[in-house]
Amino acid sequence: MKFTDGYWLMREGVQASYPAEVLDAQAGPGSLNVYAPVTRIRHRGDLLKGPLLTFECAAPLADVISVRVTHFAGGADRGPRFPLDTVPVEEPGRITDEEATLTSGALTVRFRKDGPWRMEFEADGRILTGTSAKATAMLDAPEGRFIREQLDLGVGQHVYGLGERFGPLVKNGQTVDVWNADGGTASEQAYKNVPFFLTDAGYGVFVNHTGHVSFEVGSEAVSRVQFSVGGESLEYLLIYGPTPKEILRKYTALTGRPAKLPEWSFGLWLSTSFTTSYDEETVTSFLDGMAERDLPLSVFHFDSFWMREFHWCDFEWDPRTFPDPAGMLRRLKERGLKICVWINPYIAQRSPLFAEGKEKGYLLRRPDGGVWQWDLWQPGLAVVDFTNPEARRWWASKLEALLDMGVDCFKTDFGERIPTDVVYHDGSDPEGMHNYYTQLYNETVFELLREHKGEDEAVVFARSATAGGQKFPVHWGGDCESTFPAMAESLRGGLSLGLCGFGYWSHDIGGFEGTPDAELFKRWIAFGLLSSHSRLHGSESYRVPWAFDEESVDVLRHFTELKLSLMPYLREVAREAHEDGVPMMRAMVLEFPEDPACATLELQYMLGSDLLVAPVFDPSGDVSYYVPEGEWTRLLTGEKVAGPRWVKENHGVLSLPLLVRPGAVIPLEDR
Ligand code: BGC
Repeated sequence: MKFTDGYWLMREGVQASYPAEVLDAQAGPGSLNVYAPVTRIRHRGDLLKGPLLTFECAAPLADVISVRVTHFAGGADRGPRFPLDTVPVEEPGRITDEEATLTSGALTVRFRKDGPWRMEFEADGRILTGTSAKATAMLDAPEGRFIREQLDLGVGQHVYGLGERFGPLVKNGQTVDVWNADGGTASEQAYKNVPFFLTDAGYGVFVNHTGHVSFEVGSEAVSRVQFSVGGESLEYLLIYGPTPKEILRKYTALTGRPAKLPEWSFGLWLSTSFTTSYDEETVTSFLDGMAERDLPLSVFHFDSFWMREFHWCDFEWDPRTFPDPAGMLRRLKERGLKICVWINPYIAQRSPLFAEGKEKGYLLRRPDGGVWQWDLWQPGLAVVDFTNPEARRWWASKLEALLDMGVDCFKTDFGERIPTDVVYHDGSDPEGMHNYYTQLYNETVFELLREHKGEDEAVVFARSATAGGQKFPVHWGGDCESTFPAMAESLRGGLSLGLCGFGYWSHDIGGFEGTPDAELFKRWIAFGLLSSHSRLHGSESYRVPWAFDEESVDVLRHFTELKLSLMPYLREVAREAHEDGVPMMRAMVLEFPEDPACATLELQYMLGSDLLVAPVFDPSGDVSYYVPEGEWTRLLTGEKVAGPRWVKENHGVLSLPLLVRPGAVIPLEDR
């Protein structure tokens, strides 16, 4: 949210109070509290009123410092809060006549006491960022009270992350609202909002607030990155890297690392698509078609219409199209496949679960006690209250029946449009729960799968997420159009999400809305099979390759085989994601932070540290990409390409720029 009207004026109706000086400070082991009045104290008369802002600093992990800026501290803390795995550093804060400091590993926060307001973060002898006059603020706006921070953004420094965002990868110049929305992949809205950004200036910032966080990244004050939250208090954690990978490692040490995934999840997934018609015969014909054409398939997915219309969700197979679900699943699984079914956390009024959930108090309620409902998506839809442990168990028991029947994993769709005019069982603040709801939803499903299938066998296919969602993979990009621009926006989304510690990522090969032409489909297949997870899915049309043309079949076989042969390498890359929080699909800046040419690249990526992938986004097969320094080798032909330079070339549908990093050896499996 913007508060100003240009450099000199405030927006109409906005009043700001800024810390003016350090009045007083207190230090303890691993802590430093600084008290800052909003006017300079010249005589005792100035000590008779507020506001007084309190800055509480702590060291939750080596190289990380948290800063909490508070005006009134008396508010009720109803939660939810992000659970953080902290290992506090106990080094005491230090106070001298000139400064008050707290050090955590190589990182120090310093408040200047001998002049106008200045707080700065320093590491290894370098100032990373800081705030000066009129940066940190308490603001009274027509929309309410806000606490805002503004950190200096140096010349040429870039900001990345903030969740799966489909616009430019570099966030400088953008306004970003961290507020989960079911808005597709073509706008500023996002399904997966994460209040964490990473810079190429040695640090990242996690805003520890589950509710709405508004970021102005050089878009209000052009040389500052700003974030604000409603209310009386704002907490953020500054994480020193210095490299982007180190920042991610420390951020995911706090918020959680991506789970380890079973090998089968990396194989090809095929779906029924959404509004297409299908029954066991259709599914079987797909599977026969794949087998006849030597197309290796790992997972078959049933989208929403496995249940009856207007019953989503009741978790019961539509008896008209699936009269013998257990038998069908057995038959499908005899082919060596895993089975995924679509679910969401909503309950339509016609689902028998509605009456049951209402009676037991398992659905979100309005303040008047009635069940919260609307007619969007499903008539009379209600939302499960996952803050109620009994509701969680009740809802999970319905999924359990499906697992017993042979289902292996769930596509945990939706979870973004979570209302705020509701009451939660545990008293959680609905504004804070809006983004956090998806975490409870996906955790419920993931934990159930872990219990039933084993520790490393749980997989979901989730659309929504918040910070920490990386613990419950996989995530896919959501509803994109079947166009080249949508393929590119999807890639930007995936790379942006990866820069928030999400280790794995997928997208609908061919696009979701509409039907791709064969040319686009083939190019998307290559990109899809060089992604961590690869799924053919659409809305109104099937995605079996022979529905396009025979060449699509060849392209799918070629790239599926390629992915499977890369598994010894991908297994290692996945291990890194699991152990260090470094994503499998990496924006170039993550691997080459020293190469300024890589800072803005968003149409190519590194699959692990040793494979450069440049998807083809043009029907002609033309592609331009950047090759960093050294002698690279084309994986598909063995030919050499010397960098650093831009390359422009043309590729047939069985090819794309796929380059092995200088000096790297890619282990391949014989197929
Ligand atoms: C999801 C799709 C899904 C459809 C039906 C969409 O909004 O993102 O993948 O097929 O809902 O549930």
